[in-house]
Amino acid sequence: MVCIAHFFVTALAQRCSVVTNTNTGETIIIDGGGDSNRIIQWIDQGIGEPDAILGQFDGQRKVVALINTHAHFDHSGHIPFLKSHYNLEWWLHSDDDYLQSLAQESGARWGFDLPPPAIAENSWIHGEKHTFAGLEFEIIHTPGHTLGGCCLNLKLEEGPNHLFAGDTLFQGSIGRTDLPDTGGDLELLLQMIRTRLWPLADDTVVHPGHGPLTTIGEEKRYNPFLNKYH
Ligand SMILES: [Zn+2]
Ligand SMILES: [Zn+2]
Repeated sequence: MVCIAHFFVTALAQRCSVVTNTNTGETIIIDGGGDSNRIIQWIDQGIGEPDAILGQFDGQRKVVALINTHAHFDHSGHIPFLKSHYNLEWWLHSDDDYLQSLAQESGARWGFDLPPPAIAENSWIHGEKHTFAGLEFEIIHTPGHTLGGCCLNLKLEEGPNHLFAGDTLFQGSIGRTDLPDTGGDLELLLQMIRTRLWPLADDTVVHPGHGPLTTIGEEKRYNPFLNKYH
């Protein structure tokens, strides 16, 4: 039903996820922050390989949506290339619009040469459900790492759900709250994780923006950043 390919992009090894509905080939790109040529070549022509893949799909992929968890440049820096190549609108929570406007300069501070930042045509609203490629995503706004940071929960009938968590929650860690121009807030981030992520099913597979996959159940039990406050 779904195939989820991961590309680790930029020197920050940001996880770009390419999610395909295997019934139709329709495909969503989540957090297209870098290496857009490599990703486009693989999607359009089957050239190269992703860094990891869950499931299998051998047909032709057709990209139908570009969606983001948040606006740090390693997550959004190559959206302009993806938008123009696939001629698609882009989704981002509007509370990250200011941060997004800085993507090119913040990238430059890290030595990345990025195009002028993309503007999102569409904003997430907490609690809304959106269907892309025939797949339903619930939008969970989890500010704290950034003002507009969201987790995108892909609901599947036949298996566990998949949470694209951006930099809100990592395996054994949480997102930084000390980055400039971002609206980081540690207390808020912890509160959002406790109230909006812990109620999700324990077997929900968490796809963090950086580092290995994990599950909600695993993090609820063992994540030291949340447990030390219990
Ligand atoms: Zn981030
Ligand atoms: Zn990140």
